[in-house]
Amino acid sequence: MKRNPRAFTLIELLVVIAIIAILSAMMLPTASTLNDRANVTTCQAHLQQIWLALRIYYEDEGAYPPALQTLVTHRYLDDDALLLCSKTGRPFAYRPAPSGSDHTWVIASCIPYPPDKKTRRPHGFGAVVVTLRTGGTVTAAR
Ligand SMILES: [Zn+2]
Repeated sequence: MKRNPRAFTLIELLVVIAIIAILSAMMLPTASTLNDRANVTTCQAHLQQIWLALRIYYEDEGAYPPALQTLVTHRYLDDDALLLCSKTGRPFAYRPAPSGSDHTWVIASCIPYPPDKKTRRPHGFGAVVVTLRTGGTVTAAR
């Protein structure tokens, strides 16, 4: 039987498969890092929207709402998907700041704040908890 010299041998095929496997393994951490960054950005955008609504609510009522859901039921926010962390898929943890409290108070965060060892790092690689502080600062806290 005459063998086609241009055909792949089994060894060549296996080498190609191995190279593809190695390359995709190298790409995987990059992909999840990008994914994490996107999650942090989306999460921060949600908290910015919440801050806007909280500020208007505070101006109207003289205090923060009892729960973030109040912002939706009272139409300060039109979409309750904004109340969810983009990474955990769970509602933001909320602790209304007492009026006149200092600027370091964390109002809302992806996980209860301060994070304990078990719950921190909801956004993975960057090791961040995204927080909304009084004054409107949205930060990725380590
Ligand atoms: Zn988050």
